[in-house]
Amino acid sequence: MNATSPNAPTSTPAPVEGADCHNGKEKLIAQASAAGKAEVLAKYAKDYPVGPHDQPQSMCPAFGSLRVGLRMRRTATVLSGSACCVYGLTFTSHFYGARRTVGYVPFNSESLVTGKLFEDIRDAVHGLADPTKNDAVVIINLCVPTASGVPLRLLPKAINGVRIIGVDVPGFGVPTHAEAKDVLAGAMLAYARQEAEVGPVAAPRAGLATSPTVTLLGEMFPVDPVSIGRMLAPMGLAAGPSVPTREWRELYQALDCAVVGAIHPFYTASIREFQAAGRPIVGSAPVGRDGTMSWLEAIGAACGVSREKIDAAKNAVLPAIDGALKAKPITGRITLSGYEGSELLVARLLIESGADVRYVGTACPKTAWAEVDREWLAARGVHVQFRASLEQDKAAMREFNPDLVIGTTPVVQAAKEQGTPSLYFTNLISARPLMGAAGAGSLAQVVNAALANKERFEQMKNFFEGVGTGHSAGVWETQPKDRPEFKAAQLARIEKARKSEEAIGC
Ligand code: SF4
Repeated sequence: MNATSPNAPTSTPAPVEGADCHNGKEKLIAQASAAGKAEVLAKYAKDYPVGPHDQPQSMCPAFGSLRVGLRMRRTATVLSGSACCVYGLTFTSHFYGARRTVGYVPFNSESLVTGKLFEDIRDAVHGLADPTKNDAVVIINLCVPTASGVPLRLLPKAINGVRIIGVDVPGFGVPTHAEAKDVLAGAMLAYARQEAEVGPVAAPRAGLATSPTVTLLGEMFPVDPVSIGRMLAPMGLAAGPSVPTREWRELYQALDCAVVGAIHPFYTASIREFQAAGRPIVGSAPVGRDGTMSWLEAIGAACGVSREKIDAAKNAVLPAIDGALKAKPITGRITLSGYEGSELLVARLLIESGADVRYVGTACPKTAWAEVDREWLAARGVHVQFRASLEQDKAAMREFNPDLVIGTTPVVQAAKEQGTPSLYFTNLISARPLMGAAGAGSLAQVVNAALANKERFEQMKNFFEGVGTGHSAGVWETQPKDRPEFKAAQLARIEKARKSEEAIGC
């Protein structure tokens, strides 16, 4: 690295104090840029555009990269960051059933400032680079090491044949945990693509595919890739691996596909790698009748499949989807929001099942690969909000007065408070099939059960009536007295401090 490189540190890394995911974003960006991270932050800003507001309210983005690493066989995943962040990320990983060790390289102000942290990371990587145990070691820089310029790019690319992948995943550079999955998946695909370009690579565990394959981009319920495989068979195609993959060698198989199905449309870095490998990309997914029909058409066309075979594939699956949709219709008005990237697909399936969907909010950005679904929904009068904020999700709930709210935890909480039946998107919708006939039947089951719960929610609302809200929430002998004058005085002091900081230019 020469001194003129945009990544070259321009100053000694300094500890970043008083800044976290809730404040100091501008300072952190400025500091990280000065410490050699300008290039990577510019890439993230292009890949994961924010707006209309600053950043969706969601969990720590680094969880997405951590999850991708922890789900891979023979992969050691190590965090470099503040202990409180690592505690939260480790807790969340095990809450979601990681069953793998989360590695951690601790630091303090001294090791951060003196550069010792990087040496500690390098030692940790050498210790984990045992080819009998690991194919890859992943190091994830969280906010503080990224802002301080800890240079993961200086790690060796491989040790004893074990690949070393270092990624910066700061909350001030990557907007959502969904996109953080793409940061690591994209970095792994880039590495695997370069390996495949220079020589032979490991074959898939189950041997080479006998038919051209469709790589599926996005985390799905395990039955969905199987359903997709069945739908593709009449066209002489097979379902390839899902990306993020569960094993390093699957990356080669994923790259060696006929076409990529961008089931989740926000994998910008991964799509760049597939395009560099010359693979065409098809958006959307086989959900509901319309979705399945157009997806099979688009995949068939991208693979040069004959009209006869495309029609055979459609004829084989569409009657079963029609049957499932008719057998379990959904009646009711629904608003929907989430941060998984599959929100538009779920909304399509709900509408085809008969639901009156008025609003879809997603924390993910608008990309070219979401366009087919956005257009389909817009044509049916649905308001689609990309980079949706919690306030927008809650405002939609109030405006449309739905019979059912599907959303993130705070949205569901607000719905429960007003006595509206509600379902958690991540735990209850993402944890079931969506594709083909299996998806139509399964989604209707959970949604109809929730819609039938209106009376219970009313009972719950009545039961909790009168226990207070805000400052008086709870059961009290003496009701707490609100003191708005304290809050006003504190706000005035904060504003004064802000103005004096501005005046002295800090
Ligand atoms: S690493 Fe995550 S939890 Fe820690 S400060 Fe950054 S965004 Fe917040």
